[in-house]
Amino acid sequence: MTHNVIDLGSDTDLAEVVAGLMPGLWRDLADLVRIPSVFPSPDVARARQAIVKLFRDANITEAVELSLTHQGKPITPLVYADRAGPEKSPTVLLYAHYDVQPANKAHWHVTEPFTPKEVLSGTDKRLYGRGAADDKSGVMLHLAVARAFGGKLPVHLKLMLEGEEENGTGLLEDYLTAHPGDPRFKADLVIVADTGNVARGRPTVTSTLRGVVTVDVTVHTLRKTIHSGMYGGPVPDAFTCLVRMLSTLHDASGDVAVKGLAIDDLPWPAVDETQLRKEAAMLDGVPFVGTGTLAQRLYGRASVNVVGLDAGLPLPDKSANVLRDKASARISMRTAPTQNPAAAQRALIDHLKAHAPWGVQVETTPGITAYGFSANPKGSYFPLVEQALKAAYPGSTKVERAGQGGSIPLVHAFQVVNPNADIVLWGCEEPVCGIHGPDESVSHAELQAMATAEVLLLDRIGKSDHHNGGAM
Ligand SMILES: [Zn+2]
Repeated sequence: MTHNVIDLGSDTDLAEVVAGLMPGLWRDLADLVRIPSVFPSPDVARARQAIVKLFRDANITEAVELSLTHQGKPITPLVYADRAGPEKSPTVLLYAHYDVQPANKAHWHVTEPFTPKEVLSGTDKRLYGRGAADDKSGVMLHLAVARAFGGKLPVHLKLMLEGEEENGTGLLEDYLTAHPGDPRFKADLVIVADTGNVARGRPTVTSTLRGVVTVDVTVHTLRKTIHSGMYGGPVPDAFTCLVRMLSTLHDASGDVAVKGLAIDDLPWPAVDETQLRKEAAMLDGVPFVGTGTLAQRLYGRASVNVVGLDAGLPLPDKSANVLRDKASARISMRTAPTQNPAAAQRALIDHLKAHAPWGVQVETTPGITAYGFSANPKGSYFPLVEQALKAAYPGSTKVERAGQGGSIPLVHAFQVVNPNADIVLWGCEEPVCGIHGPDESVSHAELQAMATAEVLLLDRIGKSDHHNGGAM
């Protein structure tokens, strides 16, 4: 069934509408970058208030700050809006986050983190500043939708912008998972604007995300630290034992040696070796480790690394000849997209216990568990998503379905709340953006093309025979 919608005209007309919006979006993005919305700080609220005003000024007069609590703990308010569309039109939930990663200005060269600066390199006009890409560019995509349709949206729209994504409290995920019936977050299609194309100008949908789990492990060998000369030899040092144990996490080729983990091998586009070396800042001569294609290793399999260490050890030049009584490490594992995270965490704990050298005492504490994501390849909205991307990137012949090695735990929560919805992950965060690092930036051309894609997608959905699945 086709609905009565406001018809703004052809793709070309809509692309021109977005082109006309770009000077304003670019300026508003720069203004948002000036607000250092690193959670927790009062600037998070400042950014939120500024964004509410932007949406209200774009005729989304329903935009409010929405406070939720989970088990008594307050969640940083969302920017939330619920705007009815034409009768029976499907509900599209637009997600992004307005908090940003911290930034150490000592490492920034192009500009200071919260002083936005436009730089032209060749034909690529970029805006530098923390959050310019991750994820204030996502906020801008949704603002572009609001502005392009002038408040007369072709679908039922829900807007959900988060304020504590980067610090990983997980409270919003926990809230949604505990309240799968909350009508405010029901949708037929969820658009998560917090990823990006495999490369600038190559339209991409993120089809998988890895999950993540952590485990803290402590090796105990002695009741106190003792003299290494008097006792070294028969008496085991805790730190040395811990290192032996950690060394068993990989096999000789560099593959993860923990047994029983899921492996997802999907037809991801090939990862360019030279490009990856460059993006990862690998030193000359340092090899890749593990087996399988780079895409398989990055997106479809577990990886495991030690991310924290406490053995009470001083720096080498301050050291003393002693045996340590205990030593601890935090181990972080990225998991295959379909891996059950609790099972992965259990497998990691079992591995550590089984590999404690010489039977020394091992204590493990489970940390976080977060699900990965694997998009439904038969999702009914995906043909429209592909059409919108192709139209937004004239000259592109195909839309790539890439994996992502990182994790966005909230995506699993969206699946819990909306088991029948399609979830689209896209955005402006192509590799050159350098998100989370110094000199983060976003490309003007990508912002324009992705804003065009989002506008075209909603326009197409409005004109399609998709109808509301009850997600009012
Ligand atoms: Zn992000």
